[in-house]
Amino acid sequence: MRQKQRAQTIIALLEEEYPTFETALEWKEPWQLLVAVMLSAQTTDENVNRVTKKLFKKYPSIKSIAQAPITEVEQAVYSTGYYKAKARNLKALCTALIDQHQEKIPDTLATLTTLPGVGRKTANVVLHVLHDKREGIVMDTHIARLTHRLGFTKEKSPTKGEQVMMRVLPESQWKEWGDLLIQHGRKVCHARKPQCEDCVLSTLCPTGTTILKKRAKTTRRPES
Ligand code: SF4
Repeated sequence: MRQKQRAQTIIALLEEEYPTFETALEWKEPWQLLVAVMLSAQTTDENVNRVTKKLFKKYPSIKSIAQAPITEVEQAVYSTGYYKAKARNLKALCTALIDQHQEKIPDTLATLTTLPGVGRKTANVVLHVLHDKREGIVMDTHIARLTHRLGFTKEKSPTKGEQVMMRVLPESQWKEWGDLLIQHGRKVCHARKPQCEDCVLSTLCPTGTTILKKRAKTTRRPES
């Protein structure tokens, strides 16, 4: 089956499994989404929500974060990991939003990625969710892992995964690919032990086919 056709079949199957999607991150103001996505690197959305609940209460504006002592911001984001770099980026990001963008969140990938601590993944989430714009595909660890396991890329790199899927899918499905794969990655296609036996994609997935063959061999009883 050709890649484009396979991708469409995968989307149709996953749409049945996951008919709705809402980002797990909690935010009210646009800048809070940007901050939450930035903090979500290398940690879970649940952990980010725990941290941002207190963070946004203590610092209710972009200005209050920009002016906060760095040690306080470090303490506030400590449990998200890489807290020194994240605190430094967070303050620099808020300063840049004030100095260069009148506290508005930019609406292009090129401008967003000039902000401290904002990479392509964060920028794509912000464009999709805040501005309803598509310049790329969100490739977090789940989405990149599944794109690779499903055989669309030989490499595991998120950059390669994004490039390939932008060719395979029409722009109108770029957000959908991320939304569906992230849910499937969380619920079924886990990093360490994918549940291929229960996966609706098992007949379309080269990795799943190999895993299931191996598991069948190890569980087969020796003949008497
Ligand atoms: S078959 Fe296995 S490896 Fe492939 S997507 Fe499903 S759970 Fe992941």
